Amino acid sequence: MATGNAYFDDIRCNPEVVDPPRNEDLMDVDEYGDDSAQMALKPKVTVSSILHELLQCPVCSKAMYPPIHQCSTGHTLCSACKPRMHNRCPTCRHELGNIRCLALEKVAASLELPCKYQSFGCMGIHPYYSKLKHENQCVFRPYNCPYAGSECTAIGDIPYLVTHLKDDHKVDMHSGSTFNHRYVKSNPHEVENATWMLTVFSCFGQYFCLHFEAFQLGIAPIYIVFLRFMGDDNEARNYSYSLEVGGSGRKMIWQGVPRSIRDSHRKVRDSLDGLIIHHNMSLFFSGGDSKELKLRVTGRIWKEQ
Ligand SMILES: [Zn+2]
Ligand SMILES: [Zn+2]
Ligand SMILES: [Zn+2]
Ligand SMILES: [Zn+2]
Repeated sequence: MATGNAYFDDIRCNPEVVDPPRNEDLMDVDEYGDDSAQMALKPKVTVSSILHELLQCPVCSKAMYPPIHQCSTGHTLCSACKPRMHNRCPTCRHELGNIRCLALEKVAASLELPCKYQSFGCMGIHPYYSKLKHENQCVFRPYNCPYAGSECTAIGDIPYLVTHLKDDHKVDMHSGSTFNHRYVKSNPHEVENATWMLTVFSCFGQYFCLHFEAFQLGIAPIYIVFLRFMGDDNEARNYSYSLEVGGSGRKMIWQGVPRSIRDSHRKVRDSLDGLIIHHNMSLFFSGGDSKELKLRVTGRIWKEQ
């Protein structure tokens, strides 16, 4: 079972401030001597796409970052692929040696490129070497499908994923900030690893995923209920939620902060960041006859001031 460390790792990172878009040219063509006048007439997209191609490793097709290596003939490749090629140039089979391609590294340093999530709405332009760092934290980067238990590969922005959950996973949709759910299971002593349920709530103009899941801890089934926010972590922190489960005169109450769906369902579950109901308690709450699991979970979401 994972520890709480993963959780603390998460809340530590602040989203990077996105640089405002600049109106400068993508590159300074004046440095290119006699051809500069001619090149300046061409669309800049072409110049930058040629450079883009030059900076692509011929082996792994990823963008190359220093140290960029080259063979004695001048073919380039990235530092990750060099050891994998057993020191042979993948293009001409000559020995690679240890030659760095400083010229290409300098050209790369002069480049400013749009974020790869431009089509998702990011207008950021970034220096080549910091572009990757930005993209890893770009607020426009698409989200993974929050549906648990399947290997769904759908990605997109929140409106897209809401439609996807509704249409492709047939997830229950509710509007409002309070809820009252019943989870019924015929054999409470057995738990398959993939017992999970997802309900989506819309309130405060946002979407929240309520997860109910059974999993095995030691020899006994355990239940966890938690909420995830469909958006980034900094926004998720503006909300709180409470969950309540009870029966036979007993009651458990949980109050928490919804986790962003940037954190996988599994990561949240493994950090136990939700209402945990142990097996014996779940039987009390179900009415005590041990024949059926009948949990009634009520909850509320609110916005912090
Ligand atoms: Zn490579
Ligand atoms: Zn070569
Ligand atoms: Zn971006
Ligand atoms: Zn999906």
